[in-house]
Amino acid sequence: NDHVVPDVIDSPSLNNSKPAQTPTVLSRLHLIDEEQKFSAELSTYINEKWTLKDAGFNYNLAAIFGSQSTGKSTLLNRLFGTSFDVMSESARRQTTKGIWISQGKDMNVLIMDVEGTDGRERGEDQDFERKSALFSVATSEVLIVNLWEHQVGLYNGANMGLLKTVFEVNLQLFGGNRGKEKTLLLFVIRDHVGATPLANLSNTLKADLERIWHGLSKPEGLEDCKITDYFDFMFTTLAHKLLQPEKFESDVDQLRLRFTNPSDPNYVFQPQYSRRVPADGLHFYAGGIWDKIMTNKDLDLPTQQELLAQYRCDEIANTAFAVFQDKIKEFRQPIESGNIVEDLGPKMREIRGVAMKSFDKDASRYHAEVYKRKRSDMLTKANTMLEAYFLGQLKNLHKKAVNMFSTNLQQALRIEGSEFSVVVNSSKKEVLDYFLQGAKAIKLEETEWSYDEELYQLEQGLKDFATAQREKELNKMLNSLEKHLRKELDEPVGLALNNPGPGMWGRVITIYQRTVEDGEQLLHKKARTFDLNQDEQGELLINLRRQAWVLLTKKVQEESVDGMMLLKLRNRFEEKFRYDEHGLPRVWKPDDDIDTPFRKARDETVELVPLFAKINTLDPAKGEKFELEPAEDFDFDQSLKVLSETRQQEITTKFKRESDAFYLEAKRSVVATQAK
Ligand code: GDP
Ligand code: MG
Repeated sequence: NDHVVPDVIDSPSLNNSKPAQTPTVLSRLHLIDEEQKFSAELSTYINEKWTLKDAGFNYNLAAIFGSQSTGKSTLLNRLFGTSFDVMSESARRQTTKGIWISQGKDMNVLIMDVEGTDGRERGEDQDFERKSALFSVATSEVLIVNLWEHQVGLYNGANMGLLKTVFEVNLQLFGGNRGKEKTLLLFVIRDHVGATPLANLSNTLKADLERIWHGLSKPEGLEDCKITDYFDFMFTTLAHKLLQPEKFESDVDQLRLRFTNPSDPNYVFQPQYSRRVPADGLHFYAGGIWDKIMTNKDLDLPTQQELLAQYRCDEIANTAFAVFQDKIKEFRQPIESGNIVEDLGPKMREIRGVAMKSFDKDASRYHAEVYKRKRSDMLTKANTMLEAYFLGQLKNLHKKAVNMFSTNLQQALRIEGSEFSVVVNSSKKEVLDYFLQGAKAIKLEETEWSYDEELYQLEQGLKDFATAQREKELNKMLNSLEKHLRKELDEPVGLALNNPGPGMWGRVITIYQRTVEDGEQLLHKKARTFDLNQDEQGELLINLRRQAWVLLTKKVQEESVDGMMLLKLRNRFEEKFRYDEHGLPRVWKPDDDIDTPFRKARDETVELVPLFAKINTLDPAKGEKFELEPAEDFDFDQSLKVLSETRQQEITTKFKRESDAFYLEAKRSVVATQAK
């Protein structure tokens, strides 16, 4: 009922008597082929064909050794529901050399069928025997040693040579780790007829094993090490498959429990045998080991495990990081265009947390030191990427804070009686609080991020802004003060000058002093609003006096241009000549003396001109002259000059000519009356 299965992977090749019972067949993989090449497909098998992708440590690995045609493959297929090739009884064809691997049906057990380890039987060299032994010991927790009952006690048989090799390579790999990492050797004695009890068989085997161990040349320092420091042993028998088929089946069922039932007293996969390789890293680890074996390099498992950890941690980090990068992309555009991303802190924390968790889930199974280092690398990398958003958001918070400050300030200053310093301080506090709250919310744990510099810059910025704003507001105030001064000066000064006479300048000076006093009071009031200090106040007062004076002299100049002067003189002359002492218009009669009043009025009027030569700064209230300090573009003495000698002459001459017309008019009016 056994049949030959051609060398076709994945063919349903359940070889035993009840093929109908096994509708699903697990694919096997030619892990190491006849050319001793390691299959590139192990990871695909683990992740896709088998169900071990996320198994982590929750899987086990065993290998079977033994002479050719001792029913190894047959046993595995019975035990694990696998589909390893079985040699046909009729054809007696050699099955494929190499190592085959498959997952056990409905169990997280990987099993390796090692073929062709009995090179010595066929007279071949023992090269592959040694290589496959090394590989199996480095990867498997349990080695099943399969032999016929009649091979027991044949100390010089092929099996013993194989076991010697296994002991040697095991010492090579775990020599320094005595008692820590052990390998379980499970001897399965086939075609047990029952005449010799298991106890006797196992004693014979144990004695042989001790003898082999004794004969081994041990590494330096391990000369006295014991076989039990490195190996545990189990022995079991199976009935003859052809002679006692039912007993054979029930023996196999019993044996299966040792692989599948953790509460079985003989459960084989004990923690001390574990090679600590997570399922998702097995392909890399096993491939690396085979590579070392093939290149004849020193094979030490700690280094292999570190290499594995580095490789896998990098892979896992890259996968987690790709998701991470994709998620944080959404922040770029809004932040770069100056927006403040709502809940950026919690969002970044969440995304980073997910990435780290996804890394931890798979990577934490690997070599602790490497994992820790790679984790810290990954965290640093993630933090570096996130920091760009942290800094971007800080910048935007800063900008927003300055805007808030400006708006607040302008609003508050519009309120009458507000004090600049109070407004500035309360606004400053408000926007700094705003900034700090926003900054704290985006500073993640486990980072070196800091917002101190940005905060410092913001404080400086607010200070500068407040200073500039104060200057602007102050200027606004001074401008309105100037308008006010002009209003207070222009009309009264005009009036005073249009009523020329000896008290004219005294009145002008009085107007000036009164205006300046008003201005000073206003400045005092504003001093509080703008926090003006003594010096600033003093300077503003000096400016005020000068400014008022300049405004005043301008008005005086306007009033003393030729036209205005002639107007003033004409008015005064008319008042004197054309009106009598009661203010009534004069009507000249033929007997009236016109010449005398004319001359008198004209002389009195002309006398006014020298009054306009220079401003007289005698303050009537104080009885003394006042002065203003000269400045770069201000010459007080010069500002007093109104009409030069020449202009006085010109104006006098012009006026006299105009007055002649009045004289003639008066004369004509008499003639006209006489003619009636
Ligand atoms: P392998 O080379 O060790 O893998 O051996 P196979 O499983 O290919 O079996 C070799 C031959 O032994 C086949 O013809 C099987 O039918 C036969 N065989 C398998 N199991 C037993 C057994 O328990 N007892 C005996 N006598 N023959 C068996
Ligand atoms: Mg086989």
